[in-house]
Amino acid sequence: MKSHEIVRRWLDFFEKKGHAVVPSASLVSPDPSLLFTVAGMVPFIPYLTARETPPFPRATSVQKCIRTADIEEVGKTVRHGTFFQMCGNFSFGDYFKEQAISMAWELLTSPVEQGGYGLPPEKLWITVYEEDEEALAIWRDQVGVPADRIQKSGKKDNYWSTGQPGPAGPCSEIFYDRGPEYGIEGGPIADETRYIEIWNLVFMQYQRGAGIGKEDFEILGELPQKNIDTGLGMERLAMILQGVENMYETDQVRPVLDKAAEISGREYTSAESDDDPHHTDDVRLRVVADHIRSALMLISDGVTPSNEGRGYVLRRLIRRAVRAMRLLGVENACLPELLPVSRDAMKGTYPAVADDFERISRIAYAEEKAFLRTIASGTARLEEAVKESKAASKPISGEDAFTLHDTYGFPIDLTLEMAEEAGLQVDEAGFRTLMAEQRQRAQADARGKKLGHADVTVFREMLAEGETVFTGYDELNTESTV
Ligand code: ATP
Ligand code: MG
Ligand code: MG
Ligand code: MG
Repeated sequence: MKSHEIVRRWLDFFEKKGHAVVPSASLVSPDPSLLFTVAGMVPFIPYLTARETPPFPRATSVQKCIRTADIEEVGKTVRHGTFFQMCGNFSFGDYFKEQAISMAWELLTSPVEQGGYGLPPEKLWITVYEEDEEALAIWRDQVGVPADRIQKSGKKDNYWSTGQPGPAGPCSEIFYDRGPEYGIEGGPIADETRYIEIWNLVFMQYQRGAGIGKEDFEILGELPQKNIDTGLGMERLAMILQGVENMYETDQVRPVLDKAAEISGREYTSAESDDDPHHTDDVRLRVVADHIRSALMLISDGVTPSNEGRGYVLRRLIRRAVRAMRLLGVENACLPELLPVSRDAMKGTYPAVADDFERISRIAYAEEKAFLRTIASGTARLEEAVKESKAASKPISGEDAFTLHDTYGFPIDLTLEMAEEAGLQVDEAGFRTLMAEQRQRAQADARGKKLGHADVTVFREMLAEGETVFTGYDELNTESTV
């Protein structure tokens, strides 16, 4: 079943169950506290927190999402993309646990001829929050899932809150068993590679008080308006229904992977274990396919490369894709070959990527060109530093990392990545100290010379760049559970 068909069935099913069909919001989060839309619920936050009266009691959507917190997982696990689509159904003080659970089960297990996804019930496993006896009883007694395929789990995975006072509540998750060839028996609690999480059902029923983080807090009482918020990973379901090994091999992503393999002359083998000699190349090909798609979708939603915030994320995605291609042996610009393939894979669902491709591609290609220039100028200097530090059995010095940044425009994350590939560490603390000293010098200079307007602008830009390197990723770790 192709992705567009999965999406169509989702929306049809919930529309028939009385849900308003709401188009995906932008990847640029409509909620000001988040950089990106990280889950289907984000556009509905005002209704879920009862700050606004919802125009409908129940809604469904297929939401474009970006989760930068998952960037390091991409290509290594079978299930994490930086971009993915979250299918969701929502109740704002309308139906609750029982209907949410029974509808989820119905959609997943109804035969394909009847509009469902036709998953075999015996392949599905359930987790519930350890104190949520109500959800456990619904799954076991009403849906009829055998008790030995329902597992209890703690706050970390099966309790939702924003980390702040406000709505909170237990979750129940649905997993698909890929079979004994993928790992050990024992359900999702034992093995999250064999048992793939596909759907999270959040039951917002309590008012959370103050506390620490997402696990240590008080519950003040029941919410006057109980909500349902669910999220199913479209690509994860696609991977199961298309009978492929991971989400990068599904119909909207695989064409880019194949193109990258073709350009680099590498054979893609679906290697999952890092003992497999093909694994390193396969991970790189998956990273390329994932990041190219994310870049396409981000630029389409108005993000442009820059040194801070969203633009920095986009910059990093493009640079990581280009780097992965270089490590696969391709030194020339490759976005002009890869981006149109991603466009063609995505335009059926998102016509804007084709309509606006002239603009999107101009931005993406310029960014790749600029990065290739940076690499060309700094690589020889980095290689020297690698040689010296290997000879001395020491990490790459803070001075070297600073020179690479200051003279060659090598961002510290690139130095860190390239050093890691050479099996070396970098004296990051030393680098930070030098950066801070440079900033202080610049500040003192600016004060001493009473610089005019133009010079101050340059100084601000420099400051902004320094800040980005250090704090960029903190603000990005804003992943939420649905
Ligand atoms: P995981 O434990 O696999 O990282 P999660 O618990 O972080 O997933 P949720 O926050 O519960 O995910 O999001 C709801 C659903 O969205 C998940 O059940 C999954 O199907 C999907 N999903 C989450 N993160 C990703 C991702 N990075 N790529 C693809 N799908 C995802
Ligand atoms: Mg996660
Ligand atoms: Mg999870
Ligand atoms: Mg989850």
